[in-house]
Amino acid sequence: MRTAIFPGSFDPFTIGHYDVLESALKLFDKVIIAVGYNSTKQGYFDPQTRVEIIRKATGHLSNVEVCSYTELTIDLCNRLGVEYIVRGLRTTTDFELESVIAQANKKMAPGVTTVFIPAGQEYSFISSTVVRDVLIHGGDASMFIPKGVDINNYMAG
Ligand code: ADP
Repeated sequence: MRTAIFPGSFDPFTIGHYDVLESALKLFDKVIIAVGYNSTKQGYFDPQTRVEIIRKATGHLSNVEVCSYTELTIDLCNRLGVEYIVRGLRTTTDFELESVIAQANKKMAPGVTTVFIPAGQEYSFISSTVVRDVLIHGGDASMFIPKGVDINNYMAG
């Protein structure tokens, strides 16, 4: 069985993330969405809330799991015995940042392969940052959030 980890901050999970997840599920039998956080960097939603939002968005998908983690992504891969990391790419800037991380990860953990999935054209402008800005200013962010999740029900941390 092929399993991948889809790591990220997911603060919060957006339809752009969901689009990457759907593509990843065509390649892998199981995808573990892993909410990475570190205690020194305060997020908008706390990690547990981010996990809850993702569980709500993906509850109908039996081959998706959600967890949170604080260690290096490759250490999470080794701990779970997973050989693939999925990351989404929107722009050339994403590619430049992501390829450096992927190369460092490859050096540290040669058995772990990073797979890049391009953003769907209609999602490439969507980011958690935009969603947070909309929420902070009291706007309606629901169009950027997967169906079934009422983002206004979740309290910022
Ligand atoms: P991080 O802080 O680790 O970059 P994010 O939650 O911002 O975490 O993103 C997680 C992953 O999803 C990253 O690989 C990012 O490039 C990708 N991603 C974010 N938004 C989109 C989008 N709209 N389309 C495709 N990929 C995306």
